Amino acid sequence: MPDVPMIEMTHVKKAFGAVSVLKDISLQVPRGGVVALIGPSGSGKSTLLRCLNLLTIPESGQIRVGQSRMDFTSGHKLPGDRELAAFRARTGMVFQNFNLFPHMSAIENVMAGPVTVLKTRPEEARAAALALLDKVGLRDKADVAPDKLSGGQKQRVAIARALAMKPEVMLFDEATSALDPELVGEVLAVVRQLAAEGMTMMLVTHEMAFAREVADTVVFMRDGVVVEQGPARQVIDAPNEPSTQSFLSHFHNSALPAQR
Ligand code: ADP
Ligand code: MG
Repeated sequence: MPDVPMIEMTHVKKAFGAVSVLKDISLQVPRGGVVALIGPSGSGKSTLLRCLNLLTIPESGQIRVGQSRMDFTSGHKLPGDRELAAFRARTGMVFQNFNLFPHMSAIENVMAGPVTVLKTRPEEARAAALALLDKVGLRDKADVAPDKLSGGQKQRVAIARALAMKPEVMLFDEATSALDPELVGEVLAVVRQLAAEGMTMMLVTHEMAFAREVADTVVFMRDGVVVEQGPARQVIDAPNEPSTQSFLSHFHNSALPAQR
C-alpha cells in the first residue's frame, strides 16, 4: 500500500493541566519519508513525538503507525498495557541523553530489547546486535561500558539499540543536542544513512542545515500548533509565515547553506 502514510496523526490533542500543549495536530509521513520537526522550546515537539510512541497518551484524536491504529476519541477504550507495548515496539525512539543502561556493555544494551521483549534467543540477538554495532561503526566497542564511550558513540549505541527492535519508524528527539560540536557529525551520518535506506523518520532537531539536507518535509511548530509545513528547502530557505521567519532568524547564518 504505497499510498497509505506510514505515520498518521489525526486531530491529536494533549493538555497538561490547564496548558494545552498539542492543539489539534494532524500530520502524515509517507513510507520512507523524513520529517524534521522544528520550533522554539516549549512548542510541543517532544510531546508530539512522545504521543507517536504512546509514552504520552493523547486526550483525543487518532494515531496510526504502519498497520496499527489507536483511537483516543472519547468513548473509545484506552489500550491495555500489552497493546501499548506492542504499539510502542513499532517506533524506535532516540533521546537527547542516550538513556543507555549504565551497567550493561554496548552489545548488551543492543541485545536487551530483543531478548526480553521479543524473546529472541541470546546467541541470535548477539549476532544481530554485533551487525548493528558494525552498521553504526562501533563493532570494536561491543564489550565497552557506556561510561567509557564518548557522547557520539553512546548515541550511536542508542540508535543501534532502537534498530534492534526492528521498528517501522524511528523518532529522534534532539539526538545531537547534548553532544560536543565535533561529535555531532558522526551521529548525523548514521541518521543520513538510515534515510538513504528508506527508514521512515521524524526528527526534532536544531541542526537546520542537516534538516534542510536530509528531511523531505520540515514542520514548524509553535505553541502546540503546526504553523507551517512544506518541502524542507522551501521552509528553511524561504518560509512563508512570519513566526517561522522569526524562529529561523535566530540561527546563525553560517548554520544555513548559502541561499540560491
Ligand atoms: P518542546 O519539545 O517543543 O520544547 P515539550 O513538548 O517538551 O516542548 O513541552 C511543551 C509544553 O508542555 C511545555 O510548556 C512543557 O512545560 C509542557 N510539558 C511537557 N511535558 C509535561 C508534563 N509531563 N507535565 C506538565 N507539563 C509538561
Ligand atoms: Mg523537546
